[in-house]
Amino acid sequence: MQLTTLKGIGKKTAEKLATLGIEQVVDLLFHMPLRYQDKTKITPMIDMKYGDMALIEGTVIRSYLNNARRPMLICEISDGTQTIALKFFNHYYSQRAKMTPDSNIRAYGEMRFGKAMPEILHPEYEHFDEPLPLQDALTAIYPKSEGINQSTIQKAINQVLLLLQKGEIKVEEYLPDNILNKLKFPNLSDALHYVHKPPPDADTNALMAGTHKTQQRLVLEEVLAHLLALKKIKQKTQQLYAPELPIKESDRKTFTKMLPFELTHAQQRVVDEIFNDIKSNHPMQRLVQGDVGSGKTVVSALAILATFQQNHQSAMMAPTEILAEQHYKTLQSWFDEKDMVFLSGAITGKARKEALGRIKNGVKIIIGTHALFQKEVEFSALGLVIIDEQHRFGVHQRLALRNKGQFEALQPHMLIMTATPIPRTLAQTAYANLDISIIDELPPGRQEISTLVISNNKMQAIAERIKANCQQGAQAYWVCTLIEESEVLRSKAANDTFEELKEWFPDLRIGLVHGRLKSDEKHTIMYQFKDHQLDLLVATTVIEVGVDVPNASLMVIENAERLGLSQLHQLRGRVGRGNKKSHCVLMYQAPLGEVAKQRLEIMRETNDGFVIARHDLKIRGAGELLGSRQKGAVQFRLADFERDKALFKTAQKLASDLIIDHPKICQKIIDRWVISSDEISNV
Ligand code: ADP
Ligand code: MG
Repeated sequence: MQLTTLKGIGKKTAEKLATLGIEQVVDLLFHMPLRYQDKTKITPMIDMKYGDMALIEGTVIRSYLNNARRPMLICEISDGTQTIALKFFNHYYSQRAKMTPDSNIRAYGEMRFGKAMPEILHPEYEHFDEPLPLQDALTAIYPKSEGINQSTIQKAINQVLLLLQKGEIKVEEYLPDNILNKLKFPNLSDALHYVHKPPPDADTNALMAGTHKTQQRLVLEEVLAHLLALKKIKQKTQQLYAPELPIKESDRKTFTKMLPFELTHAQQRVVDEIFNDIKSNHPMQRLVQGDVGSGKTVVSALAILATFQQNHQSAMMAPTEILAEQHYKTLQSWFDEKDMVFLSGAITGKARKEALGRIKNGVKIIIGTHALFQKEVEFSALGLVIIDEQHRFGVHQRLALRNKGQFEALQPHMLIMTATPIPRTLAQTAYANLDISIIDELPPGRQEISTLVISNNKMQAIAERIKANCQQGAQAYWVCTLIEESEVLRSKAANDTFEELKEWFPDLRIGLVHGRLKSDEKHTIMYQFKDHQLDLLVATTVIEVGVDVPNASLMVIENAERLGLSQLHQLRGRVGRGNKKSHCVLMYQAPLGEVAKQRLEIMRETNDGFVIARHDLKIRGAGELLGSRQKGAVQFRLADFERDKALFKTAQKLASDLIIDHPKICQKIIDRWVISSDEISNV
């Protein structure tokens, strides 16, 4: 049924609703309330507690403008139990004129403590003479969307609920009976009625928290839809063809013998998983998770080796120039430079032409930044795409590189690496289209990094310590953080610190890297630091990901309170990579907010990326953690990873069963909940 058949919905509104994925009348039922208002009863003012939202009625005692610089309209009303002040920042004359003493007002809003009496800031309100009717259900409030009134959506959904009741539209039940019975979940139609129009005696606490049975039932279906969409994508990819890239055991041995260390068991296991994937003629779609320093690079090098030996190209894409350069350097010690090419935005002119030419002519190993997926880059036989530090890329960039690789109807194998360890259930949900490998072991000899949290004004003491350490042969990072400012400002701040530190430590060799340096300047400095020609490296957060200088054992992060947990963990992961005892000093600007304090405390307590990620998940939620702030797959309307953990597991099992037993139903569930499966496929 067309949306425009509803009263109050014209063509314009229908178009706007379509951008929310609401195209048919029935889709409105799956537009979920954000919260509820209780306008089913009048609350005696005396019963209202701080922070309560309630409907009250009273008679006006007086109304006046206070004498603030921008006067506020204040209207005091009483119901005999208490007097409450209604306050308005924005007001107009006729509004005040109507608030005459002894007239009646009904108001809805949130109670706070005022100086003289409790108050409500800009409440909704109306005047009345005759008693006003009360709502017969809690009022659902829907997510705001541009250009559509709350009341338009409310009225439209009310109409749809009526149609549903009269049987003029139907919602089909897709969840199996045994699941509904086992979890004591209501059927779909009842659940929808309930969440849009909860009865006055509904358990509002549960509803507000999203834990009501009716909501949980919908959560299950939503998560299921999401999983099914991803699984379908996985199925589709599995039907595509890729070059077979088996590796000879002897090649693997020769390579690992050449390494200055032995692979950990975890690395070997993951390498096995990768080899097993790429020897098949279907494209690998594998995500490798491993905490910072777990040794992901060498794992990807082995995949490159296999590809190389089968005469195919490997493309490795890193999110920053510095990291890409570093990978290039690292791989140089294992592969011949004539087989390698580097490409980034900084490679221009003749050098660029040459690089592009070599890629087209089949050079085997291509390393670079997102410049790799630009139009002008043509591969000749791309067999493997490696994406390092995946969380730093936008979904479109990742997709572009994959599509590029197609040749002769073959898809390249994909290896995605991330140092953002996320809990398994979340990973399995968010990346249900991928196979997941976990490097859950650090190379031997690593020591815990000990972390100190210290106020900025103790800078001097820290500085002395750095000096002492560096004089004994250690190397240190000094990280300047300025977030949300321009790269220019960031670089300038780093430069100021650099100058200051040089004055403090005339004897130390100090370098500076920031985002505004030219690529070869960055490269030179990083190289000097790696080669221990520098003792101290002052840097912006450009060194956040991947940079590997095992001798560096000390890190200072200025204004650490400005950074999120994952970012702090990534930064800190630049030290503790060798077998020296490492230290990280988190400096902060007092006073600290509650969340910031909590974050720094967590950093002090643990080095474990998984533990940190779990906390991050609680603080920021799954969407942020996964870096899919753009339109992305993990934006649920109802589901919340922390709260609904158990249901995520149930949904996983259910998804695996359904996709085999009831493929037709699967598509219907997806269509009902997933706005566009293109979006989801970009994960
Ligand atoms: P990340 O997982 O953070 O990308 P890297 O691949 O940069 O980690 O590896 C971190 C450091 O550990 C590098 O210096 C690398 O040479 C070293 N390394 C990797 N694997 C091992 C191992 N099995 N034993 C000892 N050192 C290792
Ligand atoms: Mg890395």
